[in-house]
Amino acid sequence: STKVEFSGETRVMTVSNQKGGVGKTTTAVNVASALAGLGAKVLVIDLDPQGNASTALGVPHNAETASIYDVLIEGTPLAEIVQQSPEDENLFCAPSTIHLAGAEIELVAQVAREHRLRTALDEYLKSTPMDFVIIDCPPSLGLLTINAFTAASEVFIPIQCEYYALEGLSQLLGSIQMIQKHLNPGLHLSTILLTMYDGRTRLAQQVAEEVRGHFPEQVLETMIPRSVRVSEAPSFGQTVIAYDGQSAGAIAYREAAVEIASRAAQSKEK
Ligand code: ADP
Ligand code: MG
Repeated sequence: STKVEFSGETRVMTVSNQKGGVGKTTTAVNVASALAGLGAKVLVIDLDPQGNASTALGVPHNAETASIYDVLIEGTPLAEIVQQSPEDENLFCAPSTIHLAGAEIELVAQVAREHRLRTALDEYLKSTPMDFVIIDCPPSLGLLTINAFTAASEVFIPIQCEYYALEGLSQLLGSIQMIQKHLNPGLHLSTILLTMYDGRTRLAQQVAEEVRGHFPEQVLETMIPRSVRVSEAPSFGQTVIAYDGQSAGAIAYREAAVEIASRAAQSKEK
């Protein structure tokens, strides 16, 4: 199996796209699991009230579970809410619960409302080194996503290979620029992953070419194929890496993880 060296520095990536259903959560949990499989220590922060990332990682997240809501609103330390995923001893999850649905509004009245995740994460990482922190965002550009953009250094955009793929992307890029200017100068778009790719259709090929043309540096070579195994896995409380490690989706996500990990090594060599 592939071995990758990790630098000891934490890469904080936020998986964002204000469109729903493009594969954000699927990408967050599968890349996280694949990185853990390469030997990285990985924390997934579930910032979507739907809690799909927590479900896929096999982590309890009912209404009574201590969650990222408590961190953002009550100031609970992240260490008190993080759970280990049963899938891999290197894989952890800060779960979301239904309470997070109210956080978008409750945050408005909070002090330093854009920085609450960053403050909590900085504190946590002092005592608990991680190679990767991967934040799964809700499909909106509200305060939860702004907290993710403020806590992260890398934006990771999954793009579904369909007709409207690039629509709305300029709005997302505008938001990133606004965050760079006012809240987090270190934020940058580092990674784009083409998902749900069906190479049999001319349209998917055209969309992939168009996205690569716009973002030659950011788009990963690997594309994630549309695969039933990928969509089945969450109902078993698993990523596709654990559910069916030999399926095309699992293989593709592992290749994407190797690319992501080795890109860091490359940029450090420069
Ligand atoms: P988002 O988090 O952006 O809303 P999801 O990751 O939840 O998107 O994906 C939306 C739906 O598409 C889910 O039902 C998921 O299982 C399915 N899906 C995601 N990636 C794939 C894939 N490669 N092949 C088949 N279905 C997929
Ligand atoms: Mg999602």
